[in-house]
Amino acid sequence: MQGKQIAIIGGGPAGLMAAEVLSLSGHSVTVYDSMPTVSRKFLLAGKSGLNITHAEEYTHFANRYGLASDRLRPALDAFTPNDVRSWAAALGTETFVGSSGRVFPKAMKASPLLRAWLSRLNTQGVKILTRHRWTGFVESGYAFDTPSGPTIVHCDAALLALGGASWPRLGSDGSWTSWLRGKGVEVRDFQPANCGFDVGWSEMFRERFAGEPVKSVIATSDAGTFPGEFVITANGIEGSLVYAHAASLRDRLERDGTATLVLDLSPGRTTERVARDIAQQDRKASLSNRLRKGAGIEGVKAALVREVAQEGDLADPQRLSRLIKALPLPVLKPRPIEEAISSAGGVSWSGVDDRYMLKAIPGIFVAGEMLDWEAPTGGYLLTACFATGRAAARGIEAWLRR
Ligand SMILES: Cc1cc2nc3c(=O)[nH]c(=O)nc-3n(C[C@H](O)[C@H](O)[C@H](O)COP(=O)(O)OP(=O)(O)OC[C@H]3O[C@@H](n4cnc5c(N)ncnc54)[C@H](O)[C@@H]3O)c2cc1C
Repeated sequence: MQGKQIAIIGGGPAGLMAAEVLSLSGHSVTVYDSMPTVSRKFLLAGKSGLNITHAEEYTHFANRYGLASDRLRPALDAFTPNDVRSWAAALGTETFVGSSGRVFPKAMKASPLLRAWLSRLNTQGVKILTRHRWTGFVESGYAFDTPSGPTIVHCDAALLALGGASWPRLGSDGSWTSWLRGKGVEVRDFQPANCGFDVGWSEMFRERFAGEPVKSVIATSDAGTFPGEFVITANGIEGSLVYAHAASLRDRLERDGTATLVLDLSPGRTTERVARDIAQQDRKASLSNRLRKGAGIEGVKAALVREVAQEGDLADPQRLSRLIKALPLPVLKPRPIEEAISSAGGVSWSGVDDRYMLKAIPGIFVAGEMLDWEAPTGGYLLTACFATGRAAARGIEAWLRR
């Protein structure tokens, strides 16, 4: 069964991981990528430290993928967060667990790991052809635009690892959706995930506070209640705490047309204590002083209170304390998918068998973010891309052995 020709289209983490497994088994593997270099999104992820996986208890970890958790489970069981760390270590990248449980390379970047990985793939005989853009199916194979003109690729099996649709300028632009739909594959429309949201800031608030971090708050949505921080932008809000709530805010906006993120601006104090401490302030003192001395909030947090307050809220200590402890921030819409960390949607699981093969097109497999799953930030995205890349590679081997 060795020595089959395998085409992997898409040289992100999912595609490269599949190339690693298949080349080790002795197959002839070629990775095609439209960009001048592979794994650009992986490198960009490295700019913010490369959160490669997460060290939380594994059952919790494996349930972070919402409705897709069950389908992803066998792939994750076969390549767990510990396996991700051992794999990176074998490539010379030691990792550490940050205070939140997130796992990062000690170097806090992706380039040394990617360099070592590409070098190992090269040693294993993997051929990487960049500037090769897949343009769809033709009767006898896969059509590509290449620097030397159009070409057609034939192979024994192909893996599509084309990514989602966020940050399209890095290569994954979702252009393939219509080609797969044309072959009877169900593909759910892409939506932004782990994204910021527009908020209807007043002109004054926007000018004064765009770029300001809002630290040590607790935010609640349908997703749950989590502590963290976020950033005010000219259009609205972004940052890790917002991303943690993004899927539920997006889905509620779609369902109801409105969605609200509820903020506790004074964690650690009860509403009663805040009301009492504010009531004890001199009534003639400025609002800023009453907020600072009575509730320990100032700057952007105090401005958020003013921004959201309704007539009468600011004068009444009871109402003011309720506002500080449960500030309702309505979000208007998600930021465009071009700005999102990741995307939801993609190839529906109903059209994919347990080997990661498309039921409608035998011999074509899928892996990575182009499948219909989403997860919060925290290393879950990359881990699932690695894991599905490996699972699809095993699926290809099983199918070739049939
Ligand atoms: C700013 C940012 C920060 C991130 N940080 C993290 C993080 O810290 N931790 C984490 O877990 N995740 C992070 N992610 C998400 C993570 O990078 C992605 O989930 C992951 O890269 C997806 O891997 P993939 O292999 O499925 O697809 P991709 O990495 O998108 O790779 C797909 C490849 O397919 C190629 N391709 C697409 N279409 C074609 C075509 N028609 N022909 C040929 N080639 C094609 C593309 O050029 C690309 O190289 C981050 C993402 C962004 C944008």
